[in-house]
Formats: sequence, structure tokens, C-alpha cells
Amino acid sequence: MNRRYTVLVSDEGVGVDLPPAESSTSGVLSAAAIIEAISEALIVTDLNETIVHLNGACEDVLDASGLDLRGHNISSLESADLRRVIGAMKNGGFGTVVRKLTIKEREYEARSSVIRLPTDEPVGVVTVLHDISELLAVDRMKDELLATVNHELRTPLTSLRGFAELLYERDLPRADQKAFLKIILGETERLTDLISDFLDIQKIEAGKMRFQLDVTDDFGALVREQVATFALQREDKHTFDLSVEPRLPKVAIDADRIRQVLMNLLSNAVKFSPDGGPIGVTVSRSEDDNVIVSVRDQGIGIPEEAVEQLFSRFFRVDNRATRSVGGSGLGLAIVKELVEGHGGRVWVESTLGVGTEFFFTIPDYRGGR
Ligand code: ADP
Repeated sequence: MNRRYTVLVSDEGVGVDLPPAESSTSGVLSAAAIIEAISEALIVTDLNETIVHLNGACEDVLDASGLDLRGHNISSLESADLRRVIGAMKNGGFGTVVRKLTIKEREYEARSSVIRLPTDEPVGVVTVLHDISELLAVDRMKDELLATVNHELRTPLTSLRGFAELLYERDLPRADQKAFLKIILGETERLTDLISDFLDIQKIEAGKMRFQLDVTDDFGALVREQVATFALQREDKHTFDLSVEPRLPKVAIDADRIRQVLMNLLSNAVKFSPDGGPIGVTVSRSEDDNVIVSVRDQGIGIPEEAVEQLFSRFFRVDNRATRSVGGSGLGLAIVKELVEGHGGRVWVESTLGVGTEFFFTIPDYRGGR
């Protein structure tokens, strides 16, 4: 339906007159009230670039709630990009100017259009700031996901295909057949792990990660069992030293998820110490009576500047030492979620070229949680 209305622009602000039959009970809806109710950040300027109105959402975006920007020239706006997008419309003009800009570390799509009287005379400019930070983050994640899928699925598939073809086409001695089948099994395992990681990340994203917590006073046994299982599957390059403090606090854990955390940390310790060496696992009582687990290797180490991003999805250190090692960059992001899902914390200490130690805590079970 086409409603007729009149826009009024004065020093007091902008108003909209609606004819009584179509208006609210009071007969008039103030544009200022409408603007205020809009959740998008919105700023109205006149043709002299004076700010006539800005809503609360816009004040939040600009961090300007304390300052009354009304009546000020747009030169008092901190963001040069915002001034530019508003300024682009000051001489009238048709259509909408769209520009991406960053304000206080969030990303926006700013759209400016000219406000016109029914006579077509331009009277001002309205600019809407749409927060696209989340959209862009999803976009970036999609790109990373595609790159990872492309690389991480293609590599094992190429190797599966190559070895399957060899086995199919040639009459190989039994020992070679077994060696190739072992590689095929290893690669299928890698693909299965990758798919589980993708599914876990998706569950975390959707807030659907659930924990089946059981109270145990023998957390050490679980770690011992997991390290033993893991060590059995490895070749001789690495040795595993385990130290478990007696009488650990009781903890409420989802045993499968804790095994997953240990598996991730242990396989990283192995993966990133290509020359082998000892891998130390300790389980002890922390000063504040929680359980603290550490997994230590003497591998390639982690550059200091990478530590902050280490637990982000898809993050992988990219240098000569890591390039030949496969991985999706999802393991530590999952570890963090799983540990924090138990109320614990995870962190890392590392020296490049010397080794790395990951720590995580599980809070003492005090009955109430
Ligand atoms: P992935 O192992 O699949 O690459 P992760 O999330 O488990 O993904 O690890 C992210 C990155 O952190 C790795 O790519 C690697 O660069 C670094 N990293 C993790 N564990 C270690 C470790 N023990 N030693 C050195 N670097 C590590």
C-alpha cells in the first residue's frame, strides 16, 4: 500500500506527518521516535553536514552516549570513513552510497541516501550503519573451511587412490601389500578424524555440545589408560613418561571428551616433534585444589606471536617446520571448548626449537555443580 506522508525537517529534528486515517491514535508518529526504535544505527544530517539526529544504537556504535552530537558538524565524527560516506550525498544525488567501514574494531556496511520532500527537494542525508562483523567472520570461516577441506581431504584421498591402484594393478609381494594397506588404513583414519573434528566444531558453533558428566576420584587411571593406548599405536621414535600424583581431587568429567582432549594433545606432541624424544604427561593437584594435566614435548616449539591465536579455529603455524605436517587447525579449538565445557582452562608454554608444554585444569568436584 502506498501511504502519503510528509517529512518535516527543522532545527528540532525530523518529523513525519501521517494522515489521521492511517496514523496511530495520536494521529502523528514522530520520526525521531521511529528512528530511536530502529535497532540499526542511524544518523541524519542536513545539507550543511550538521547532525540533526542520531539514534541510541548509533551513539552506542560511535561510543558517543555522553556527548550530544546533535547540532554538531560531521567533522566531530571520529571515523573519516563515516564522514566520507555522509559527505558523498551532501549535494543531493540519487540512489544510495554504500561503503564498508570499521569503527571501534567492528565492521559495518554504511548506506547513505538523500532525504527528499515530496517536491523532490533534497533536505538531508540519512545514513544507516549495519553491523556486518559476524557476517564477515562467517565468510572468513567459510573460506578457511573450504581451503582446509580442499587440502586436508585431497591429500589423503590422493594417497588412498594411489595405493589402491597399485594394489589393484600389480601382483605385489605380501609384505608390500601389507605395507600399502597399512598406509590406506592410516589415511582412512585421518579422514575419519577430520570429519569428527568438523562435526564437533559444527556442534560447538550451534551450541549443541553436551557433556555426560560422571564423578570420579580416579582421574589418574583414565589418563594412564589413555597414554598407554596412545603409546601402543606409536612407533619407537618417542618415549612416554607419565607421572600421576596420588590422591587427586574428585572431578566430574565426560570421560570420552577428556580422552579426546588427551588424544589431541598427545598427537600434537608427537606430530610436532618429528625427531622424536620424550613426551611427558603429568597429572597433579594444583595450588587451588583442581586437577592439572600437562603434556610436554621436546619438539619444534611455537613462535611467541602465534600463541594468542593457537586455540582459534583453523589456525596453524605456517613455517618450514610445520608445513610438512598435516592438520586442520581444529584440534586445539576443540580442546579449548571441551576443557572450558568442564569449567577448566587450557594454556601453553613453549620455546621455539626447544619444546612445548600444554596445560589444562579440571575443577575439583564440590558436589554442587
Ligand atoms: P592441527 O594439529 O590439526 O594443525 P591444532 O589446532 O591441533 O591443529 O594445532 C594448531 C597449530 O598449533 C598446529 O598446526 C601447530 O602449528 C601448533 N601446535 C599445536 N601443538 C603443537 C606442539 N605440541 N608443538 C608445536 N606446535 C604445536
